[in-house]
Amino acid sequence: KNLPSDPIIGNSRRQVKEACFSYVSPKQTKKPEILHVSEEMINALGMSSKDMHSQTFKNVFTGNEVLEHTTPYAMCYGGHQFGNWAGQLGDGRAINLFEVEHNNRQWQVQLKGAGETPYSRTADGLAVLRSSIREYLCSEAMFHLGVPTTRALSLALSGDEVMRDMLYDGNQAYEKGAIVSRVAPSFLRFGNFEIFAARQDHKTLKTLVDYTIKNYFPSLGEPSKETYIQFFAEVSQRTLDMILHWQRVGFVHGVMNTDNMSILGLTIDYGPYGWLEGFDFGWTPNTTDSQHKRYRYGNQPNIGLWNLYQLANALYSLIEETEPLETILENYKTDFEKKSLQMMRSKLGLVKNDDRDNVLVQNLEDALLLTETDMTIFFRNLSNFKKGDAIKGLEIVKDAFYMPNEVSDAVSKQWNDWFESYDVRLKKESLLDTERKTKMNAVNPKYVLRNYMSQLAIDDANKGDYKLIDELFQLFKKPYDEQPENEKWFTKRPDWARHKVGCSM
Ligand code: AMP
Ligand code: MG
Ligand code: MG
Repeated sequence: KNLPSDPIIGNSRRQVKEACFSYVSPKQTKKPEILHVSEEMINALGMSSKDMHSQTFKNVFTGNEVLEHTTPYAMCYGGHQFGNWAGQLGDGRAINLFEVEHNNRQWQVQLKGAGETPYSRTADGLAVLRSSIREYLCSEAMFHLGVPTTRALSLALSGDEVMRDMLYDGNQAYEKGAIVSRVAPSFLRFGNFEIFAARQDHKTLKTLVDYTIKNYFPSLGEPSKETYIQFFAEVSQRTLDMILHWQRVGFVHGVMNTDNMSILGLTIDYGPYGWLEGFDFGWTPNTTDSQHKRYRYGNQPNIGLWNLYQLANALYSLIEETEPLETILENYKTDFEKKSLQMMRSKLGLVKNDDRDNVLVQNLEDALLLTETDMTIFFRNLSNFKKGDAIKGLEIVKDAFYMPNEVSDAVSKQWNDWFESYDVRLKKESLLDTERKTKMNAVNPKYVLRNYMSQLAIDDANKGDYKLIDELFQLFKKPYDEQPENEKWFTKRPDWARHKVGCSM
């Protein structure tokens, strides 16, 4: 690996110094059972569908067998959690199994929920079926939505029971243990770099940065101050692009701590994430963040920047100049304004640039906040708008309102005004209605993984029925397509699911 390893081998909890990772062994489980496998990832890794039904597959991807010549390990990282430095965190329940090179791509394969590691702190290193289904389905859905993300290869039951505090009543309960195997070119996070800076271990920091550039940013060239600055610029840009995709599809990560920020700009750590239903900049799915709402939808771009400041601080000792780092951080802000507007233009089917587009977008966002309006349904239905037919606009999107019968005259007026201005703006475009619709439907998904959908799959799975996991998995292979047989998933959140959220642990 060319990275320094922890001289102590084994899973016992400890502070690990001057090392990037520790060798560990996954936990043996009682009665492993594979519940779902991604054939796409099987192919990406160069395996065959025959492999996935083998005993070896089951054993390896539940941590019950370690392949010959492989050395599983957990990585050391730190992080800022909710704005505060938290010290050493690390892979507390993730174990990297091996790396695969196939079709000129490198993949790391890791298990989540395969038992304690040196980094487990006070927790058990395990995962429950509930959170594992959420991660498995969401990471693949995000991929097909075109959002940079870590992938998932398999979802399995460990056969063991896991004890969890229940969020709502404070009691404890046993739940089914599960293991997801995740795949990404690298799982390195901002926190992997921060930990060495915090410990003033500049030597290991440099080793890790050089390793990262050599392996994942080879076009930046040989290590030098200039290369480190370019590296930071590249990470900033990827982070921004990832977050703009989140904003586009209405994904709220929920725990954007720096230990959950991928150095490759991939969405990582699907915990208490959620999808906007009613469009609302102030919404967060994370109940432990309900007071400050640090990680609310509208704050994600700012938090991306805040996290990049932490990474800049960590890289500073290699660069020893603040100015180039500050310039990159300043650029993030201006790029955000530009790219965000561009993204909103695409959602509205606008190809040309007009000086007053920001006003059009601002007025739209104001209108969306008037009454609870389903973001996904709104933008999808908006593509049915016809030039010159502003008067029909409201009718076209009304299905997106959670209370369509309680739209006051004032609200109607505001919407009608907006549709008038949209119509005026569309007249400056040359696309036909049908062409605009096709373009809009390629960026405004028809299907997103609403919280209640995962919940239905979880409820069934807890009763031993896994069909819905597969149904949703298949649905999300084509989230932008019309799927007549799946029209039932193109619908507003049902009343029973209002304000219910998933839980991370
Ligand atoms: P998260 O909030 O999921 O990003 O987790 C923060 C830290 O807690 C990371 O170091 C995780 O590895 C660790 N962690 C979360 N859940 C567990 C668990 N069940 N057992 C051990 N470590 C955990
Ligand atoms: Mg995490
Ligand atoms: Mg997590």
